[in-house]
Amino acid sequence: MSKIKRIGVFTSGGDAPGMNACVRAVVRTAIYHDIAVTGILQGYQGMIDQSFIEMNSRSVSNTIQMGGTILKTARCLEFRTKEGRAKAYENIRSVGIDALVAIGGDGTFTGAEVFSREYDIPVIGIPGTIDNDLYGTDYTIGYDTANNTVIDAIDKIRDTAASHDRLFFVEVMGRDSGCIALNCGIAGGAEAILLPEKETGIDELIDKLERAKEGKKSSTIVIVAEGDKNGGAYNVAKRVEEKFDFYDTKVTILGHLQRGGSPSSFDRVLASRLGYAAVNRLLAGETRVMVGLRNNEIESTSLEEALSNKEFKLAEDMLEMTNVLAI
Ligand code: ATP
Repeated sequence: MSKIKRIGVFTSGGDAPGMNACVRAVVRTAIYHDIAVTGILQGYQGMIDQSFIEMNSRSVSNTIQMGGTILKTARCLEFRTKEGRAKAYENIRSVGIDALVAIGGDGTFTGAEVFSREYDIPVIGIPGTIDNDLYGTDYTIGYDTANNTVIDAIDKIRDTAASHDRLFFVEVMGRDSGCIALNCGIAGGAEAILLPEKETGIDELIDKLERAKEGKKSSTIVIVAEGDKNGGAYNVAKRVEEKFDFYDTKVTILGHLQRGGSPSSFDRVLASRLGYAAVNRLLAGETRVMVGLRNNEIESTSLEEALSNKEFKLAEDMLEMTNVLAI
């Protein structure tokens, strides 16, 4: 393998808090090893549009605490085509990029895997998504911060729910992954949690709500992941109200506020560790892998495995525990 002289780093897919801390770690670790760094703006779109910036240690000063991504992000359809990737390769080579660090989710890694095979360019992926839906890492960058944001919101909703004896349906992000819903449901003391990975019938939910009412609960909160099969919090609320009108019912959709905010201490440290490891492993000859955290150790998993192994990350016993703790 030829020696790497310039790394291109980019963020892609949905933004996540901690991406900046990760970019900072990649840039500074590379500079430390005398490797030049190009920041590619707006993910794969920037490769096609030649949106490149030269980065040095100072380009990432004062960014570790910032949410969002200073490199911007985009969803790029053109990169899904052979012609788009050919243009991207020509452009990155024209500025001397000979290896890539891709920070994003499963779509980003799919693109990186295809690109790296087509053009034999070394690439390392870093899991940056609030969804925590990648195999090969216990946590993805941004997940912890998003959970803290959701918990803060649930606590506030609980105050008003308890004051008015209300039933709240709170919709959280997670089209395919119920990680945020389950985690925040437990941490927020929810009475029920609806997840994309597990079908919950409306009658089953009403049984739970009736039990809560019989238990003289003054408020009830149901967490609904956006990908729940019943069709989101508004639909669930409507169907429940048709059969169970004991409470005054309200719906809150937390939406994009779950993506923003200053990264938590956990996410900053995770992002720093993964960014540092990604560059060191790239220089050691690793390619087409994702660096992740498993049992508090940094481990590499091939991108192929990270993408194909759709292991159910939600522990069933946690769901059972929720039912017990909600009595
Ligand atoms: P999140 O989990 O936050 O949604 P993500 O990385 O999964 O993040 P996507 O929009 O799915 O976000 O993917 C990011 C980009 O990766 C896409 O916009 C596209 O440019 C590229 N990409 C995804 N799938 C492919 C593919 N099959 N071939 C080439 N490029 C792809």
